[in-house]
Amino acid sequence: MRKIFIAITMAGLLFACQKKEKTLMTASKEKKDTAVAKSPIHRMPKPVADAATIMARKEVPILCYHQIRDWTAADSKSSKEIIVPVELFKAQLKILADSGYHTILPDQLYDYLTTGAPLPPKPFMLTYDDTDDDQYNIAWPEMKKYGFKGVYFIMTVSLNRPKYMTREQVKQLSDEGNMIASHTWDHHMFTQYKTPLDWETQVEKPKKKIEEITGKPADYFAYPYGIWNKEGIPELKKRGIKAAFQLSTKRDPDEPLYTIRRMIASGNWTAPGMYKSMIQTFHLNQ
Ligand SMILES: [Zn+2]
Repeated sequence: MRKIFIAITMAGLLFACQKKEKTLMTASKEKKDTAVAKSPIHRMPKPVADAATIMARKEVPILCYHQIRDWTAADSKSSKEIIVPVELFKAQLKILADSGYHTILPDQLYDYLTTGAPLPPKPFMLTYDDTDDDQYNIAWPEMKKYGFKGVYFIMTVSLNRPKYMTREQVKQLSDEGNMIASHTWDHHMFTQYKTPLDWETQVEKPKKKIEEITGKPADYFAYPYGIWNKEGIPELKKRGIKAAFQLSTKRDPDEPLYTIRRMIASGNWTAPGMYKSMIQTFHLNQ
């Protein structure tokens, strides 16, 4: 499972200055509450944008990480795509922070895409796939230095196994402000789910399991290997998934919320190289 992502490359990033983000969100909530109290008109939910409107909004860069550890002699060049050495990872976060980027979380992205809700300046998202324990031991302490928060797409089968995160670690990440989201039960290919049991095993049960652990909704999903098909999207919707993340293929113009793009931050790139790739991949202006 750890070596699977080899064929995919891309780049995307996000950060967040935690303090600013919190201030902004609090201010926004207070404003909304006041508006609701004053005018019944504001009780009407904002209309959700149609697919064309969502497609037309500027994309937020999203970076995808897997393992964060120093290379060994056994690591192939292709596997290094998804193994980012510790110092390189630190340098990648630093260049994002130094460049003024702020992390956002999926609820913010969803609100932005569906209602045009404002985001902090230079928003980006940090995502981690596959439940590796270095995402807790190494990534999280480093993220905290910059006030960054991230999204952890976990496979529920791997919890408490050696080299993977424990339930307690996942709960702590959630309690400390990160988002825990679903990456299926066992990383079985999404395009191969055919029976009701497949959907129950790979989508319904993992969602419930995460919600039991964190006490919070688990409404977001990342496709194993980033591979999706249009036929499966209604099945995600039926099961309460609000948005789904792929890797670097084109978004579906009819289903942009279920084909959100991410970029693998490769271990084969320098930090400036990763930054440049993110700018290019997401058509950013700096
Ligand atoms: Zn994965």
